[in-house]
Amino acid sequence: MQATTQLLHSIPVDPQTGAIAVPIYQTSTFVQEAPGVNKGFDYSRTNNPTRQELEKIVATLEGGTVAAAFASGLAAIDAVIKLLESGDEIIAVDDIYGGAYRLFEKVYRKFGIKVTYVDTTDLGAINRAITPKTRLIWLETPTNPTLKVSDIRAIAATAHRYKLLLAVDNTFASPALQQPLALGADIVVHSATKYIGGHSDVIAGLVIAKDPELGAQIKFYQNACGAVLGPFDSFLLIRGLETLHLRLAQHSRNALQIAQYLSAHPLVDKVYYPGLESHPQHAVAAGQQSAFGGIVSFTLKNDTEAAASALVTGTRLFHLAESLGGVKSLVSHPASMTHKTIDRATRQKAGVKDSLVRLSVGLEDVQDLVSDLETALTIVSATGEKEKKKLLAHC
Ligand SMILES: *Cc1c(COP(=O)(O)O)cnc(C)c1O
Repeated sequence: MQATTQLLHSIPVDPQTGAIAVPIYQTSTFVQEAPGVNKGFDYSRTNNPTRQELEKIVATLEGGTVAAAFASGLAAIDAVIKLLESGDEIIAVDDIYGGAYRLFEKVYRKFGIKVTYVDTTDLGAINRAITPKTRLIWLETPTNPTLKVSDIRAIAATAHRYKLLLAVDNTFASPALQQPLALGADIVVHSATKYIGGHSDVIAGLVIAKDPELGAQIKFYQNACGAVLGPFDSFLLIRGLETLHLRLAQHSRNALQIAQYLSAHPLVDKVYYPGLESHPQHAVAAGQQSAFGGIVSFTLKNDTEAAASALVTGTRLFHLAESLGGVKSLVSHPASMTHKTIDRATRQKAGVKDSLVRLSVGLEDVQDLVSDLETALTIVSATGEKEKKKLLAHC
């Protein structure tokens, strides 16, 4: 059975009523027949029927044994880091999501967990960073926002040689395009706020574990720390999942066309998209993803915040906003938005230049999106000319 069919039919028909949509069990507690005698639910932080269905569907979709749904992607990441102890070390991808960096540096460092950031596209760099205290390798692939792709199979082999856990933040690819557990990872994390929700209407996170014991530990922290996903938000994710494959296929088609258009534009310097043959890890991406996703980043030849600002305020269809993965196209300027908490030098080293712009390519007609970018780039060009004239006037 194909993945889409399997997904749609892993969403159960309600046995009690025949409802084809999963009911929203908006309840905090469950009546017990006798102390400790219940129907599998006692309190909604611990377990809720709507959330449980979501978790089952997602575990199957990612090829894991256990899934846990959280109130945000960061709460999901947080639950994974709680597997570690003071003194443990993490090796993490250098082009890391800003919020994950803040969590590691501003929260976990003071509890004695140290993170080393390396270019995980370089297997040698990972090997050199491993110490006797390393417990976990943390990947995002593709990364945010420079779309670096790390070889999950190769890194999983390294991780397991040293008895380390490999966790992959699969937010950018989604399970429709990439299944890290099948490639050897131990844990998958999602900001389900993005493609899994898919409609920019919910904040949510997921953790999926391959090994049931590891999964039980995650479930323990989910309940013990309490950042659980509510029943209505769980319903929204189930609803989003129903069109996941369809959406990602179209996001990927639109994004490839936009990446090709930008690559040929005279004002554009570099285009970051794993689907382009010019992408340094194109072959790795093709070997582990079924398509290349909906995120395209690029820099301008005029590498200034002013030029990027003219662009991101010049689009009409691409709305200027944080986040990604929804049906409507978004544009963002990482250096002043999502990556602001990372200091400029570190940012630049990871490729987040001043003019870097990130597009979350939505499901609008691609020709309309290209025209919108064309107009915005004309504004960038006009702004550049004005600046030049001002400079010349001063001479
Ligand atoms: C958005 C995002 C997160 C954080 O998720 P929230 O749902 O915003 O808490 C983590 N990782 C990646 C790659 C993201 O894009």
